[in-house]
Amino acid sequence: MVRERDFLLRTGMVNSNVYAGIQPDDCVVWRRVPGGYQNFSLCNHTCVTEVNGKPTGGNYVCDASFVFASGAKGFAPRQAIVGWTRSVAAAHAIARDIFFEYHFNDYCDEFCVSSSWAEAIKLELTDPNKKVEVNRFGGSPEMLKECAGIIADCKQAGFIVNLTTPGRRLMIDAQFVKDLAADPPQILAMSFDDVGPDEIKRLAKMDLDAIKAEWKTISPHHGQRQKAYEGLYAAKLMLEMEVPIKLLFNVVIHPGNIRHLDNLLATLSECVPGCFANPYPAQSFNNEPPCWTVESLPALRAHVLHFIEGTLAGTPGITRRISYYNMLEAAYRKWFRKDPKRLLEFMSGIGAWDITLRPGAYRYAQIGKSTEVINRPFEELPLPGGHLGCFWNPILGLPKHVNGSIEELAETITMGMVKRGRELRRGRLEYVQTSNVMPRLAFDTVSTELGIPFELVVEYIRTRKEYCGF
Ligand code: SF4
Repeated sequence: MVRERDFLLRTGMVNSNVYAGIQPDDCVVWRRVPGGYQNFSLCNHTCVTEVNGKPTGGNYVCDASFVFASGAKGFAPRQAIVGWTRSVAAAHAIARDIFFEYHFNDYCDEFCVSSSWAEAIKLELTDPNKKVEVNRFGGSPEMLKECAGIIADCKQAGFIVNLTTPGRRLMIDAQFVKDLAADPPQILAMSFDDVGPDEIKRLAKMDLDAIKAEWKTISPHHGQRQKAYEGLYAAKLMLEMEVPIKLLFNVVIHPGNIRHLDNLLATLSECVPGCFANPYPAQSFNNEPPCWTVESLPALRAHVLHFIEGTLAGTPGITRRISYYNMLEAAYRKWFRKDPKRLLEFMSGIGAWDITLRPGAYRYAQIGKSTEVINRPFEELPLPGGHLGCFWNPILGLPKHVNGSIEELAETITMGMVKRGRELRRGRLEYVQTSNVMPRLAFDTVSTELGIPFELVVEYIRTRKEYCGF
């Protein structure tokens, strides 16, 4: 079993210090809509492809963009945000017990996990020293006045804390820099998706003042470019200040950058020493058509294989998530020749990995918005956000806030999302999108596998056997 545990940890099938996760959207506000107010994920950037018919230079559209905000306002306060996180973390501990008592054996049977591997997985995931990871997220969580305080409270509560944010405030708010450096999150995750390798090399050679000066010249409608400058600035600043923090760059892979992706990732590691890259495929929102194209599929597969092989070889700079990449490779093997349309959908997050398919897939829970429209004066609205759901499929957001009983929350994490998915799909004639293709949320090997569409399971097990030996 030592061999199995070593392999699980080495390849990221299980995490060395974390057994469950929470991704709270800290940027939920109220926005006026016909019939009242509705939750909206706000960002202070605008990542779109055009504004008023004029191309921005951006390659994708994000719903949280500031241009769509129409006066949305009113973040929840620090105390509520931290309280929601603590409740879900407490529920995770109970959900883990429920999962291992009632659902783990079914998982092992369906995914052909033999007893030695099952034992190793269980031992790792029930290790009392492992913690809950909290990825503070949303359009731009640094917008919250109390962002540094929220991080400090979460660290104080014993969580591993990531801050996923563009990094602008580190460029323009000296007090925030001081506060964050004094009690930093364990990981600072930024984005790099619309800037090529040559541009990164050029920016990396500039000093902080020069990056900022050039950043000021970027159109506010080209958020993708702004956040590349902001992220690089923030990373250089943290390195210069020697803040003990792991730097991670989220890189959305899309048809526009897939061909130079390897170069882009290598350049990032070269220009920001010690950083990690977290590339993941772009996906379609809200029943949009697939964002991938048939022409871009071979290049994406090369990337998938590079990550599987790099993980097995221990190549530095590769985020180890072999089960996630095995799942993508299995989709290629099943559909690349026979049904490329289905493959395009899968890679775009449509009918893909799904937290509502089986108990245990939702072990990286998300706190965020609900789609309910409330018709009351603004001053009488409840706090925005605080609902279990999924950022990528807002329809899944539960109407209730997470401040119910911890046992009830644990049941929702384990079975509630499965019921929610069934309830949304039942009797509906139109297709209901409940899936996504986000590696962080797929999390470890157990939750990744439990979210795999039923039609892909056989091919997935074959692929896992080939690369992982079981
Ligand atoms: S910075 Fe991120 S969240 Fe904000 S608009 Fe751009 S893609 Fe969306």
